[in-house]
Amino acid sequence: MDLLKERILGDGIVKPGNVLKVDSFLNHQMDIDLINKIGQEFKRLFADEPITKILTIEASGIGIACLTAQYFNVPVVFAKKSQSINLEGDVYSTKVESFTHKREYDVILSKKFLTAEDHVLIIDDFLANGCALRGLIDIVNYSGATIAGAGIVIEKGFQCGGKVIRETGIRLESLAIIESMTDDALTFA
Ligand code: 5GP
Repeated sequence: MDLLKERILGDGIVKPGNVLKVDSFLNHQMDIDLINKIGQEFKRLFADEPITKILTIEASGIGIACLTAQYFNVPVVFAKKSQSINLEGDVYSTKVESFTHKREYDVILSKKFLTAEDHVLIIDDFLANGCALRGLIDIVNYSGATIAGAGIVIEKGFQCGGKVIRETGIRLESLAIIESMTDDALTFA
């Protein structure tokens, strides 16, 4: 997606610790026109899959998942990062290590929102070491649902997540793959 790559080059800010800040258009202030186009692109890529549900993780995946879901006409369900009293009944749960906050937290999803009949498209903003995505994959596997694939907006290709996930055989589509980034240079694969 050239539009996305241009935006990353223009407005992305490289922070220490291999963190790319895209909070002016993706995960703090959100450019709805751009994210709509991202949703359309995921629809184009996964058009052949019988998707019944889009799964993401709070917080920054939710907006992207919602705009994407419009094009599939399916619900969005998001994994919550800690136990909530609002969730009734049984939950699927796994542990995820946060790349940006460097700590481990529990991720839960109410069992009533994901069942063995579902075909799930997993959506997230970033793929770095793959912990968030592996947590979401765990949850789908616990439910017995089918993983149709994973759609990532920005994959940092110099970190191991993409390789690890592709080796599992799961279909992974990343709209922009960053090959390398430093304070003054960012290149795409
Ligand atoms: P992973 O679990 O693959 O190591 O990291 C993915 C998660 O960490 C994503 O859900 C995303 O929120 C966050 N993340 C990873 N790398 C970056 C980054 O460079 N910038 C931002 N803004 N978030 C990131």
